[in-house]
Amino acid sequence: MATTEVIDPSTGEVFTTVPSLGLAETDAAIERARIAFGEWRRVSPGDRARLLRRFATVVEEHIEELARLEVRNAGHTIGNARWEAGNVRDVLNYYAGAPERLAGRQIPVAGGVDVTFHEPLGVVGIIVPWNFPMPIAGWGFAPALAAGNTVVLKPAELTPSTAIRLGELALEAGLPENVFQVLPGKGSVVGQRFVTHPAVRKVCFTGSTEVGKSIMAGCADQVKRVTLELGGKSANIVFADADLDAAAAAAPGAVFDNAGQDCCARSRLLVQESVYDKFLALLEPAVRGFRVLDPADDSSEMGPLISSGQRAAVTSYLEGSDIAFRGTAPDANGWWFPPTVLLARSNADRHWREEIFGPVVSVLPFRDEEDAIRLANDTEYGLSGSLWTRDVGRALRVSRAVETGALSVNSNSSVRYWTPFGGMKQSGLGRELGPDALLSFTDVKNVFISTGD
Ligand code: NDP
Repeated sequence: MATTEVIDPSTGEVFTTVPSLGLAETDAAIERARIAFGEWRRVSPGDRARLLRRFATVVEEHIEELARLEVRNAGHTIGNARWEAGNVRDVLNYYAGAPERLAGRQIPVAGGVDVTFHEPLGVVGIIVPWNFPMPIAGWGFAPALAAGNTVVLKPAELTPSTAIRLGELALEAGLPENVFQVLPGKGSVVGQRFVTHPAVRKVCFTGSTEVGKSIMAGCADQVKRVTLELGGKSANIVFADADLDAAAAAAPGAVFDNAGQDCCARSRLLVQESVYDKFLALLEPAVRGFRVLDPADDSSEMGPLISSGQRAAVTSYLEGSDIAFRGTAPDANGWWFPPTVLLARSNADRHWREEIFGPVVSVLPFRDEEDAIRLANDTEYGLSGSLWTRDVGRALRVSRAVETGALSVNSNSSVRYWTPFGGMKQSGLGRELGPDALLSFTDVKNVFISTGD
């Protein structure tokens, strides 16, 4: 079988080798998943719930191991990686409550009884990117399995190790063989087969908007269900009446967390012009003090970029741009890049418009509320964002007006596993997490039973 070398981004060295599946192996795995679906859908709701809770417990018992693996697999800081493994446990526990509650309806009709069922779809294909290998996998497989589907999951070629380990832990927890399979390999081979194979009834894709569009087009051929979580260029809007100290202290984490390789990164910083200079003066020490260290170090706030290619792509945004100030990064092997603040000359600047996916934030002043909303919405994306103000009315007005799937006021938060997450415009289609995601892994069936009257 072909293999892929996995590189530790903090050293640039190969740290493990994993299989890379070809077409025949992918087809065989999908066929096993199709057969396993016949059994899994018939497992009683109570037993399915117990198995998912057991899976959560086994993940809990391996959090430190998974986190240490993610440090090497993806260059995540150990603190973030512990949170991410814990998030998989939490998502499993949350959706473990679903099998016993996935009730249909009884609808009044004449001459009989009409009931609805939430039927599982069959085999679900999940395609995961390299930026959050564990949580994004869990957001797909936990609700899919809870709803009675079987899952084939393709991790990114750059970061397959933790997903492979989660697949092993699922078996250790007692999930039946082939209910949850992790299939490492290339997107163009394994991922593409999820799109074209008729037994795969839904594709959940997270990644670039470009590939997302091609997946959606491919799924159209079989009217295959698809969920897309794509790129972002989210705004962080700071009004003059905000707690500026709090906003400036939070702004670096809002974009440099995970080295900016975050679809929710608030990479467009909009600051009201009356406090623009004051805010930048508060921001500078926070950026310079951002701790970019060996990700295995407990005090590290940011690790390296994922690859040399990603570093080259991020570096290209500095050409001809106005750098306001930068933080520091280790002068060592690995794909390090310092936190960087760029001054946008206008909203036409390339670094203002494109998803950089690195630790780079662009700053632009705005006049008033209307101007802030106009600039925030002047993008093809609409995933996340923040706004900072002490005016409750403004907080609500602007929250409603900004075209984005998730928004937080006086906070950086984007994701809670029990609330919906997903994008507007070209940031995606459908929602993950929360109660709605569960239903997206089912089809409603309506059954009428005549009572003969
Ligand atoms: P991609 O969209 O290419 O990759 C995401 C996932 O899709 C990976 O598992 C990849 O597999 C798979 N894939 C790639 N091509 C296909 C295909 N034709 N059919 C099915 N699956 C496929 O992202 P990149 O890794 O190339 O990142 C490029 C840029 O995309 C980033 O710089 C960033 O701007 C954006 N991005 C956004 C993300 C987000 O969360 N919004 C996540 C990742 C990237 P494999 O890698 O193994 O080939």
